[in-house]
Amino acid sequence: MNKQEIENYRKAGKIAKEAVKFAREIIKKDSNLLEIAEKIEKKIEELGGKCAFPVNLSINEIAAHYTPSSNDEKKAEGLLKIDIGIHIQGYIADTAFSLDLENLEENKKLIEACELALQEAIKTAKKDVRISEIGKSIHKKITEAGFSPIRNLSGHQLGNYLIHAGLTIPNYDNNNPVKLEEGAYAIEPFATTGEGVVRDGAKSGIYRLEERKAIRDNLAREILNFIEKEYKTLPFCERWIVKKFSSRALMSLRLMEQAGIISQYSQLVEKSGKKVSQAEHTILVSDKIEVTTN
Ligand code: MN
Ligand code: MN
Repeated sequence: MNKQEIENYRKAGKIAKEAVKFAREIIKKDSNLLEIAEKIEKKIEELGGKCAFPVNLSINEIAAHYTPSSNDEKKAEGLLKIDIGIHIQGYIADTAFSLDLENLEENKKLIEACELALQEAIKTAKKDVRISEIGKSIHKKITEAGFSPIRNLSGHQLGNYLIHAGLTIPNYDNNNPVKLEEGAYAIEPFATTGEGVVRDGAKSGIYRLEERKAIRDNLAREILNFIEKEYKTLPFCERWIVKKFSSRALMSLRLMEQAGIISQYSQLVEKSGKKVSQAEHTILVSDKIEVTTN
């Protein structure tokens, strides 16, 4: 990483911290998810950042990949995960936290388990440590609290305009001998009272660009140009496209998905339907560890 890259990662991290602080202030039980997402995304832009992906607001057994649709009426409740991504010229800060909106002891314990696991993982992380050691430390903290980590969700290396680049950071000891290299990484433990596995749920309305191809629909071409310019290889959502192009864009998105130009993420749901908590920070690994989002 050169100086400029590190500076951009730091800038993104600083905005992420502000955005999390703001989110903690505005989210109340029964507030509208759509309003929450739009307020946080607006805040990110006011602070000089861009969204690296749509704000994720996932409730209870939904572990990740829920972002409000353009006409969403869902309200904040239960165990809510708030996952926020910011980028400066493609250099990303990825951070998440969980809130208990029903005052339940079990929620609080799930949240605490993830926070402790994340701290432990950050302590374990250093250049040349085996990534399975990081996973082991996460697993230990979460199981000590009486819960299960989600094994098929993991942290990840970050690249320029890339959320998932190169290495993954497991949430358990997967015996992988690969060592942590210099670079930027998101570490994100998930804890659950369930099995500790997620499955694909409903479609999320979150998309990414797959491949530029010819398409007959005029509006689709216009949207494709916009996506390439604004988001490049980063995820975007139906809500953002409708805001820019009106609900006429929905048909074009469908056509683009059918043509394989864009693909849609699924919501990720805990297999046994049990609650999930999440905590996440972005770290820079060099001769030392720097947490950009804390
Ligand atoms: Mn995240
Ligand atoms: Mn992440």
